[in-house]
Amino acid sequence: HAKAAGRNGAAMFETSMLAAAERQLTLGRDLSAALANGELSMHLQLQVDHAGTPVGAEMLMRWRRGDGTFVPPDVFIPVAETTGMILPLGLWVLRQACLARLALEAAGHPLQLSINVSPRQFRQPEFVAQVRAAFDESGVPPQAFVFEVTEGLLVEDFDMITTKMRELAALGIRFSIDDFGTGYSSLGYLKKMPLYELKIDKSFMRDTPHDANGTAIVQTILAMADHLGLRVVAEGIETEAQARFLADNGRPCMQGYLYCRPLPLDDLVARLNRGV
Ligand code: C2E
Ligand code: MG
Ligand code: MG
Ligand code: MG
Repeated sequence: HAKAAGRNGAAMFETSMLAAAERQLTLGRDLSAALANGELSMHLQLQVDHAGTPVGAEMLMRWRRGDGTFVPPDVFIPVAETTGMILPLGLWVLRQACLARLALEAAGHPLQLSINVSPRQFRQPEFVAQVRAAFDESGVPPQAFVFEVTEGLLVEDFDMITTKMRELAALGIRFSIDDFGTGYSSLGYLKKMPLYELKIDKSFMRDTPHDANGTAIVQTILAMADHLGLRVVAEGIETEAQARFLADNGRPCMQGYLYCRPLPLDDLVARLNRGV
């Protein structure tokens, strides 16, 4: 009765697909209400140089539901990208980043702020104009910001993306390739785009320095970035051994739990004021 079992299997598969689709729908609906209900906030995670001096921070979105539970960005950002909600969210993040930068300046800690920008935002015709407007309204210099994009963006519509990157770079915005090395794109784009930084993905750092292959990949990225004149941030630094390894290998900037968890702005300012 393999046939019957197969049919059952197929039915079960469809049921679980349906359940997953329903969950996505609900999540999408809840997310569009979340912005209006004040359930979204931004955390900031410090980036330090090889000496441990704070040089920047990455803005990371947080969604705390009314019942107190957190939805991780790895779950809701893809939904926001599918529904288009990422467009209003992205603008909101940009304005939050401007406010954060103003607060940091006022507190005497003018850190460079990194913002994750989704491909969907880039594809929007008004993207460059909206970014310019956000900076004009806040009076914050675009030089204070790094836009993090993933390699996925670069395989899409290369000419359109590069044109927009150049327009934004002309304003003073800097560009970083997030999760570098995990995408499928060829490395050719590295010399064609106005880039400032590569972020070594935490999956490579996880294997460093105890695994020879992981370590070789990190060293290769560091050497390449050096040749191309790009700044590097190594992500997911959790151990002293990782930090020591990087101190001996190119001294990139570092971001990870070893230095600082992602924190609300006020907590980050308090930490910076304490000088740690
Ligand atoms: P990402 O941009 O690669 O951000 C780094 C992620 O690594 C963050 O996860 C951060 O909390 C985590 N992380 C930092 N240090 C460590 C460490 O030492 N160990 C480990 N295990 N993890 C560490 P998070 O906050 O959950 O965000 C996940 C992803 O969601 C981000 O990855 C980014 O792709 C996306 N995301 C977050 N906020 C935004 C946003 O405002 N806009 C967009 N478009 N995407 C966002
Ligand atoms: Mg990022
Ligand atoms: Mg990353
Ligand atoms: Mg990521």
